[in-house]
Amino acid sequence: MSRIAHEMRHEFADAAWQERHAVTRVDQLREWMGVDTDGSLMRDIQLGLARAPMAMRITPYLLNLIDWSNFLQDPIRKQFIPVGSEILPSHPLLKMDSLHERESSPVDGLVHRYQDKALLLATDRCPVYCRFCTRSYSVGLDTQSVSKKRASPFQMRWDTILAYLRATPVIVDVVVSGGDCFRLKPSRLLAVGMGLLSIPSIRRIRFATKGLAVLPMKVTSDHEWTDALVNISDAGRNQGVEISFHTHFNHPGEITDYTIAAAELLFKRGIRMRNQSVLLAGVNDDPEVMKQLVKKLSDLDVQPYYVYTCDLVDGIEHMRCSVRLACQIEKALRGITAGYNTPLFVVDTPGGGGKRDVHSFEHYDRQTGLAVYQAPSVRPDQLFTYPDPLQSLSPDAQAAWLDPQRAKRILSDAVEAARVKSMAV
Ligand SMILES: *Cc1c(COP(=O)(O)O)cnc(C)c1O
Ligand code: SF4
Repeated sequence: MSRIAHEMRHEFADAAWQERHAVTRVDQLREWMGVDTDGSLMRDIQLGLARAPMAMRITPYLLNLIDWSNFLQDPIRKQFIPVGSEILPSHPLLKMDSLHERESSPVDGLVHRYQDKALLLATDRCPVYCRFCTRSYSVGLDTQSVSKKRASPFQMRWDTILAYLRATPVIVDVVVSGGDCFRLKPSRLLAVGMGLLSIPSIRRIRFATKGLAVLPMKVTSDHEWTDALVNISDAGRNQGVEISFHTHFNHPGEITDYTIAAAELLFKRGIRMRNQSVLLAGVNDDPEVMKQLVKKLSDLDVQPYYVYTCDLVDGIEHMRCSVRLACQIEKALRGITAGYNTPLFVVDTPGGGGKRDVHSFEHYDRQTGLAVYQAPSVRPDQLFTYPDPLQSLSPDAQAAWLDPQRAKRILSDAVEAARVKSMAV
């Protein structure tokens, strides 16, 4: 079946059809691919999947947005379908679970890193799997390179999580993430939302999902699911608790008529929406692309909230951007539209320091590409480093990083420089 035929089908607007036809194997891509006469593209994808920590899962809706005549450069393809020929060696500072989420989990399925807010991992499934995902240690299926730490069954975890939240009234803000709440059944979504609303100390609840960006027809076709979300939002409003919906668009090309219809529906039904993007090379590492994204999101009544620099994840070094580039793009954006629709660019610091404004480094050496951050509200006694991607550095600096002795010195010099600077303030 051709792509046009797919689009014409009534089923295309049905989320259940999209989920049933999600592509998880390379051979299923063949019908979308057009000519690949010598099979080289197929082999390249197979090589990419063998090297990547995430399993593949992509909806027909997204496959239809890819420009297959320009497959390698396509910004949507890059986020979901790896090719072996683009993968670069990872930065030596990389470790799996670089955000140390597992260390900050007081109970299974809850990350409590910041004082008054916590992150709830409600599922390990997503409607799609993103190459650059931070949680590649737990979401998705096992791959050839990673065997995932499975979360225990939800019902077992849920009572423990609620008990912890009830006993920890300092937590007023809960992010429901995962995985992705688009993969929660309406009854489960409702149970999570109402369960959290039954705890008087919780003042704000966010549902984080990639769904609006990759499966917008869920909102317009899965009425039971959307009603569950709206019921939670209405119940929250009635008791003075803010319920919000956090989406994840990375490129203006991800916003279609389906997205507009879904966002309009949510807006009309009183759902507050915000967006968190990831800064990705070849996807949105361009001020013009980012400006379009911000404008389009604003028109959807989705507030651009954050742009994250890419976490240190194995197999995606080619997608990371430098701190310098993040600062430049932020500078280009600020002032183009309402300040409240201008995203803050943040680094989620490896080692568990939490999110820091990308500009707020204590020290940044553009030669070695190492930025050093403080996180007074999270771990005041520690310094946190974020490395620019190796390919953004000079050949000499790259060689230095690959030599363990010199790499150690780069780290200790940067930390020392940051200490001196922060003491002088
Ligand atoms: C991002 C995050 C939050 C929410 O942080 P905000 O800056 O308020 O968006 C909460 N907990 C964890 C562990 C997080 O990573
Ligand atoms: S949807 Fe979110 S949690 Fe799921 S793979 Fe993508 S970035 Fe990771």
